[in-house]
Amino acid sequence: MSKSNPIITVIGSINMDMVTTTVRVPEQGETVMGECFRTMPGGKGANQAVAAARLGAEVHMIGRIGEDSFGKELQSHLKKQNVNVDGVEPVTDNHTGVATILLSERDNRIIVSAGANDDVTPDYVKRHSAIIDRSDMVIVQLEIPIETVECVTGYCYEKGIPIILNPAPAHPLPPAILDAVTYLTPNEKERDELEIDRVTYKKKLIITLGEKGVSYMTDEQVEEVIPGYKVEVVDTTGAGDTFNAALAVALGRQKKMKEAIQYANAAAALSVQQFGAQGGMPTDDEVRDFLE
Ligand code: ATP
Repeated sequence: MSKSNPIITVIGSINMDMVTTTVRVPEQGETVMGECFRTMPGGKGANQAVAAARLGAEVHMIGRIGEDSFGKELQSHLKKQNVNVDGVEPVTDNHTGVATILLSERDNRIIVSAGANDDVTPDYVKRHSAIIDRSDMVIVQLEIPIETVECVTGYCYEKGIPIILNPAPAHPLPPAILDAVTYLTPNEKERDELEIDRVTYKKKLIITLGEKGVSYMTDEQVEEVIPGYKVEVVDTTGAGDTFNAALAVALGRQKKMKEAIQYANAAAALSVQQFGAQGGMPTDDEVRDFLE
């Protein structure tokens, strides 16, 4: 039966992005004055959870934060965005994940300190498996330990629960993971870095091509590209996160693959028209209006 609000569980990272904008980034040993500083909720897991909730899904997040002010802020932010955070527990001996981002017109430098995201262990996720069992779709990325990704994909495979692995940031993937996932959604660069055997895994691969759109394999085993929408781009950060969340929501609503990709392509095109990863994430009505 088609559900308008499928249950989506996102297992992944929760970060605070600390963004400093500067005319130019400093050389070794140099100090420069920045232009502006702001903190923004981020982490691929949290971004995808927020995007799916905005599209109307019942979203459950499994992740970890530190017992610090960023952790509290991020947890209440997720709640405000209608993400269920029963699976987001603080750790006492680690800090909330942070991304330190230096942005200039020419450069974009990022350091991610995983902190509590490293404590999203297989045992931790198993403790929250009841919600996974009830899910229409599970999404996972690679900002948590790889053994957890392996455990989750294996668990979902055994239980017959569809799971999307967004292999970002790129990391070598053992065959156990590749065999167990239902869908794999690299961008072009990740696809090349992962060296995925495209023949063996062709039915699972949905490759995002930035402004060029999305490539996937049809039921007739023909590679098809669904072109991207021509839109005014403000900031493409989080386009991939919106795409993955929207794909999960549409597939959770039992849409056919092509229709689900078209929906996700539209959602991601809307997301690039505003600043920040979570800034432009659209609602279901906005995506439907755009598609009409
Ligand atoms: P990011 O890391 O910036 O969040 P990504 O590298 O994971 O994104 P992309 O392939 O760049 O993923 O983009 C994901 C999807 O977002 C694309 O398949 C497309 O649907 C949409 N998209 C990205 N950039 C544009 C753009 N400039 N115009 C229209 N749609 C875009």
